[in-house]
Amino acid sequence: MVSSLKLIWRLTSQQGSLWAKWVHTYLICNGNFWAIKESTSLGSWIWRKLLKYRDKAKVFHRMEVHSGKSTSFWYDTWSDMGHLYDVVGPRGCIDMGIRATASVASVFNRQKRAHRVDVLNQIEAVLENQRLKAVDAEDTPLWKQKEGTYKNLFSTKRTWHLIRQAAPIVNWHTGIWFQQATPKYAFCTWLALHNRLTTGDRMITWSSSIDPACIFCQHGIETRNHLFFECVFTAAVWTKLTRGLLGTHFSTNWDSILSLLVSNTLDCRVRFLVRVVFQTSLLSLWRERNERRHGSTPTPSASLVKFIDRQVKNKCLSIPVTGNQRLGALLQLWFASQA
Ligand SMILES: [Zn+2]
Repeated sequence: MVSSLKLIWRLTSQQGSLWAKWVHTYLICNGNFWAIKESTSLGSWIWRKLLKYRDKAKVFHRMEVHSGKSTSFWYDTWSDMGHLYDVVGPRGCIDMGIRATASVASVFNRQKRAHRVDVLNQIEAVLENQRLKAVDAEDTPLWKQKEGTYKNLFSTKRTWHLIRQAAPIVNWHTGIWFQQATPKYAFCTWLALHNRLTTGDRMITWSSSIDPACIFCQHGIETRNHLFFECVFTAAVWTKLTRGLLGTHFSTNWDSILSLLVSNTLDCRVRFLVRVVFQTSLLSLWRERNERRHGSTPTPSASLVKFIDRQVKNKCLSIPVTGNQRLGALLQLWFASQA
């Protein structure tokens, strides 16, 4: 695996080996390595293996933008928001009015737009910030050396070390992409898990004109852990929904909740319900947070609890009785916990 990542580095760092040149000419064909469809019939099995390893490689690869000419706007990581295409998808490309093949430099002179979707406004802010820093020099490809440190070189040892360290992350995923999870909820949870939600503490690093305070309580900086669920407002929602279910395991602490979601501490039916409540709460509260930031009338916590409760019931009803014996009688368990 590390050797595959090393090949990916050689390709994306344009450190001119004959092989890299050949691949760029015949397999990438002026496209972008990160954007090529995995289902391509071109190339050898090694090539298709490299394409499969891209998700792993994305964690390591990043561009330091100078002129922005050789950095892909959508497919390279050039800000803390990661691969923007992964964040907003094809719909986002259309709404931003930026071609899939655009370089960062090519959009510097574009007219800034105002969007209804929060994340697109964050992208505009990040882009503006980058434009102000642009200089006439080559962009530098970087590879992760350790958490928060990137260099223009590949280290087999460090990469291997980071992959090993990252192993527990795979565990978190089982708490998110579990069978029967609703994709849009799972995606929001995934963003939260990687701390990619555009919370106040992150927005302030892009633009000092943004108010980083929590919109629910106005107390302190809005961080992920504050929102889920240190904040008095969100904690009230979480408590109402899960205190009965979790009993002595109840917590409002992000890390404690996550470890409950992936460990075998809880009965599997209870764990299933907590996973559903967790994902539904994250998305519902995140939406409410965005709406409030855009000036909508606040929804009281009791209504949010009611909404999430209904989603959980629907989820319980959607699981066929014969489908999974271990998940029988979920609805009764849920009713009992809410009593
Ligand atoms: Zn708060």
